[in-house]
Amino acid sequence: MPYIEKLCSLCEKLGCEYRLNEPLKNHTTFKIGGNAKILVEINSTDTLAELVKFLNKDSVRFFVIGKGSNILAHDDGFDGVILKVSNKFSNVRMTDENEIYCTAGTPLSELCLFALEHSMTGLEFAYGIPGTAGGALFMNAGAYGGEIKDVVVSARCIDKNGNIITINAEDMKLSYRHSIFSENTDYIIADMTFSLEKGEKSEIKSKMDELLQKRKDKQPLEFPSAGSTFKRPEGSYASLLIEQCGLKGMSAGDAQVSEKHSGFVINKGNATFADVLELTGQVKEIVKEKTGYTLELEPIILK
Ligand SMILES: Cc1cc2nc3c(=O)[nH]c(=O)nc-3n(C[C@H](O)[C@H](O)[C@H](O)COP(=O)(O)OP(=O)(O)OC[C@H]3O[C@@H](n4cnc5c(N)ncnc54)[C@H](O)[C@@H]3O)c2cc1C
Repeated sequence: MPYIEKLCSLCEKLGCEYRLNEPLKNHTTFKIGGNAKILVEINSTDTLAELVKFLNKDSVRFFVIGKGSNILAHDDGFDGVILKVSNKFSNVRMTDENEIYCTAGTPLSELCLFALEHSMTGLEFAYGIPGTAGGALFMNAGAYGGEIKDVVVSARCIDKNGNIITINAEDMKLSYRHSIFSENTDYIIADMTFSLEKGEKSEIKSKMDELLQKRKDKQPLEFPSAGSTFKRPEGSYASLLIEQCGLKGMSAGDAQVSEKHSGFVINKGNATFADVLELTGQVKEIVKEKTGYTLELEPIILK
């Protein structure tokens, strides 16, 4: 039996939804990407473990996504299985006076609002980052002087054989947009705990509101994108270099360097993977030529 039929019956047995020939543009904030052969919505740690074990055993290509907010998916789609670890696998609770547990699919916004509700400070920086907790740990997401590295204690992940292993923060190799999970994609994050401090609810709320407002004022949130298109180069800022080179508003097809924030490439309608690669390729070349800085793409390529 081809793997797809076996996988569909396994999903049915495990009670998880799946869709065949699913457009990736419906699962990425860039709204770009062709069809995946099959997309499966993860609903529990056990389901994740079972599926990972099955896929590895049969050497089936698979790729994990969260909210798809840092992904640039190919126009030809993905000839394999997408495991979506998002809203269907969302759960957050207090485990100790200062510790919050959440599953990988928990949206960061929910995690931050939960922390606020319990007057816990430390996660305000993440409010407004449109990803899941799992995606944020993978990327060591950060903003406004904070990053996941500052608050994560440990995570449980699924290895190639479907076993659950615990990794402590000091072993996660967390640095700027990097983690052990981005080094070794065999580890699929299932859940994690964060250590926060007791704070003043009104102060936490006003910090969150202030940071969200900053995003609304500075970022082109009215257009699909994957957030910052380039990583911050050592010693400068991608947006500053792009602006200095006069590249604001430059476009290729429907992909454009945002007029509002030059660090963002936006999708003005029907931008393709090819448009984004062409545009970012040109931006990199001009920035290198005029400033000497080498820019590197931040979003993960899915193809
Ligand atoms: C408007 C906008 C603003 C943004 N602002 C910021 C910002 O301020 N700071 C910042 O750091 N980022 C920012 N981002 C980028 C993005 O939101 C973050 O990187 C986020 O953490 C990605 O989470 P995700 O769930 O969307 O992951 P995805 O984009 O779905 O995946 C990203 C990577 O993580 C992997 N992954 C996801 N879940 C798991 C899992 N459970 N186990 C193993 N691997 C996994 C995927 O395979 C992929 O390689 C922004 C994006 C947008 C669109």
